[in-house]
Amino acid sequence: MFTYPFEERYSRQIRLSQIGEEGQRKLVSSRVLVIGIGGLGSPAALYLASAGVGHLVLSDFDRVELSNLQRQVIHRESSIDQLKALSAKETIASLNSDINVTAIDWQLTDDELVDQVGQADVVLDCSDNFETRFAINAACHACRVPLVSGAAIRFDGQLTTFDFRQESSPCYHCLFGGEGFAESCAAEGILSPVVGVIGVMQALEAVKLITGAGEMLTGRLLLFDGLTSQFQQVRYGKDPGCSVCGS
Ligand SMILES: [Zn+2]
Repeated sequence: MFTYPFEERYSRQIRLSQIGEEGQRKLVSSRVLVIGIGGLGSPAALYLASAGVGHLVLSDFDRVELSNLQRQVIHRESSIDQLKALSAKETIASLNSDINVTAIDWQLTDDELVDQVGQADVVLDCSDNFETRFAINAACHACRVPLVSGAAIRFDGQLTTFDFRQESSPCYHCLFGGEGFAESCAAEGILSPVVGVIGVMQALEAVKLITGAGEMLTGRLLLFDGLTSQFQQVRYGKDPGCSVCGS
């Protein structure tokens, strides 16, 4: 079933007692939806692919631009003007041909988003605008599918996980309210490795969620300051009056 021997390929992960062969098999049979294959989605998708997540669904309808290459490490110079979802699929095929990649290179309708979320074991929000973030949050809450949310701008990053398998889980709307900031990396700038730190940690959250290893960032917002290399945590809870997940 695999071109390359499973035990050897993933031996360094199988060696970890919290993962083991059982955890690795869970990864191989899992399906992860990554929305946005930019600065966050690029490293996240590369690590999920190399770690052996068996089915990656990559959603992005943008095309690769020269100014993306500074941080969107899954794309190549030869990918410029190509659709990001297809460019990412191509790179992953050369990294791990033993996994399936579905590229969604059009803008998902609300129904299509719910359908894709419902099929996923975990969703990574690697998008760059609040409209998309709120739509993903609502879909994940409706489908009871865990959501790993990451964001980065300038030298700063943030990360949290909403485990909607638990009724008591807060949601993105509880944390940030109905409106977000209209900041963009195009206007504000972003330092390349900062977005890498957060994207890789989104992959880490997904791997822990699938394998059951360790503790996830549920109810905790992790803040990263790239200028001082410091992490901080802020605890948060469910908003009983939340229009998405409240009663
Ligand atoms: Zn909520």
